[in-house]
Amino acid sequence: MAKSVVEDALQLDILYFQQNRLLSWAPDIVHNLNWHRGEKVISSIGFTLLGEQGRPHSIRLNYDAFLGQDKYPCGYTVTLVPTSCNYGGVRWWFICPGWRGGIECRRRCRILYLPSGAIYFVCRRCHELTYDSTRKTGSLFYELIERPMKIRDKSMVALQHSRSPRRQTRALQRIRWAERVLTSGFLRLPSTRILQLRLASGETRGLGRQGRWA
Ligand SMILES: [Zn+2]
Repeated sequence: MAKSVVEDALQLDILYFQQNRLLSWAPDIVHNLNWHRGEKVISSIGFTLLGEQGRPHSIRLNYDAFLGQDKYPCGYTVTLVPTSCNYGGVRWWFICPGWRGGIECRRRCRILYLPSGAIYFVCRRCHELTYDSTRKTGSLFYELIERPMKIRDKSMVALQHSRSPRRQTRALQRIRWAERVLTSGFLRLPSTRILQLRLASGETRGLGRQGRWA
């Protein structure tokens, strides 16, 4: 049987949580996240932040996993850790809750995956996921999704840490360009639906008037 690929799994990306300021949401309240294909919700989970003194230390995930027709209600906690960034501020990580060879993984990772037929969100190594061979420079996936995502991430950092109006304007232009390309990429490549994680309460949040995430 072919190995599962990253592109077909549901993904929880800590960068998405951080960029959309979900990590500063009130603790102990259940929020929902949906995955969309076009306008249709294809999957959703509940999450609750646990923490103290205004900082989360873990996230509780609640959802139903499916093995064929059988439904498995899942509820477990994943540890979150911050690391300092060179440019100031912090970068957050999941600590993988998976097991490999009878040993807890506990790898620090940006993305947790739930491939079809699996029960837990764990890291790429725990699920033994490979990358789709189409994921390379020059491919549609790279040009419409991966590259604009990288440029958007880099420009977000530049925007937040630059004081020069000229650089801020350039960063904003890059971010808007990247978002336009991503929007068309999500429509053209249905398999990238997993990257199009949106808040249950609304559309992906756009840039506010100050050019920051609303
Ligand atoms: Zn792992």
